[in-house]
Amino acid sequence: MNRSTETSRGIGLLPVLLLLLIFLLISGFAVSFRRWEGQPPTVRFDRDFKSLGRKPALSLVIEDAGNGLSRVSVALKQKDQAVPLAEESYPGPSIVTFWQTGNQKATAVDVGKLIAEKYKVQDGPASLVISASDHSWRGFFGGNQTQQQRDFVFDIYPPRLEVLSSQHYINQGGSECVVYRVSADAEISGVQAGPNFFPGYPAGGDPNLRFALFAFAYNIPENSSLKAMARDGAGNEAVAGFWNKVFPKKFRSRQIPLDDGFLQKVVPDVMSHSPAIQDQGELIKTFLEINSKLRRANHDQIAELSKKSAPRFLWDGAFLQLSNSQVESLFADHRTYLYQGKEVDRQDHIGFDLSVTQQYPIEAANDGVVLLADYFGIYGNTVLIDHGCGLVSLYGHLSSIAVQTGQQVTKKDVIGRSGATGLAGGDHLHFGFFLHGVPVNPTEWWDAKWIKDHVLDRMKGASQGLKIN
Ligand SMILES: [Zn+2]
Repeated sequence: MNRSTETSRGIGLLPVLLLLLIFLLISGFAVSFRRWEGQPPTVRFDRDFKSLGRKPALSLVIEDAGNGLSRVSVALKQKDQAVPLAEESYPGPSIVTFWQTGNQKATAVDVGKLIAEKYKVQDGPASLVISASDHSWRGFFGGNQTQQQRDFVFDIYPPRLEVLSSQHYINQGGSECVVYRVSADAEISGVQAGPNFFPGYPAGGDPNLRFALFAFAYNIPENSSLKAMARDGAGNEAVAGFWNKVFPKKFRSRQIPLDDGFLQKVVPDVMSHSPAIQDQGELIKTFLEINSKLRRANHDQIAELSKKSAPRFLWDGAFLQLSNSQVESLFADHRTYLYQGKEVDRQDHIGFDLSVTQQYPIEAANDGVVLLADYFGIYGNTVLIDHGCGLVSLYGHLSSIAVQTGQQVTKKDVIGRSGATGLAGGDHLHFGFFLHGVPVNPTEWWDAKWIKDHVLDRMKGASQGLKIN
């Protein structure tokens, strides 16, 4: 009896212990389930690259969303050298809180900066080797592993760049053309004029021959630096100066008195077409929003649209000033706006105001493609025409538009009729001229001799291998 009691006790205890063990194992596994995931860390560069220069702009992010990073290293290999650029370890959860994951889910490495600091770059092939592991319990508690090798070429020599044009006489607010030769490895080349960059285009003949039209903006200091530049895919930059003489211009100052009649005419009209402009409660306040904010937005949009400019000249011969027109305002007039005798705003007038008679037919100044044909903020009904290589003309305040976006136009085609839409008191044409979004004085482009001397003769001479001015 005793025996059987003992036996039954023994049978009773063992399954309980087994059950307890299984329960502990299952609950332990359930609690620590996350620690068993099999996703290795990922490596992501901020850009694609085939070649790098001495001080490249390049960074990468190593990420592990699951258990977090445990160890990362980035090394540079070239020939038989291997230089560690970055090495980090990150602690995981403690043994007491084993079911938790690591805290370091991602790390960013500024590879470019580290290369510049830690390695003397030599021209030729090289590799970046990135390895990382996480705090997973996979791989006998060693974590999921990532190992990546990224091959590329160190290129430390800038493109060759030689300016061929020699005498550059430039009017402030005007345009000029530089002709240069650049080696085939250049990805970008052109002219930097103060804060503005103007890309170059093939000049014909020798495929390495380029020309860049650039503007000396009316509102940059007269001693602003001018230089040709070329940059290759690795970021190596060549810079070349060129002889130039800038003629500073003094632009006119004009006072524009604002009266309530004018405000009542223009403000509701512009506002109804421009959702970005909020009613400020008073006409004058809304006008000031339009005159500053909307004006700036319109000019930013012209710069943006200019990026679509065709990479070749679409125009032929001198540009036309509106026939029979009387000049009402000049390019870059400094305008002071007065309301009830007080100064309320200052803006520059970047174009010509030309008037003839009401609803006068407006002709395209030259051949091109319509870039925009729509109501356009302060300019009211507007046509923008792309003439290629960043040259864009603007026709504002039209009463009607006779063309559509994308349409090809020929010099003298009627594109609409003059009017007083947008910020205009009376019927006139606002004619604006832009080079890559930078406003330029159109008078040079109205002058066939200026175009020949400054642009066409240079391009033609260089493409024929002649010495050019
Ligand atoms: Zn105007």
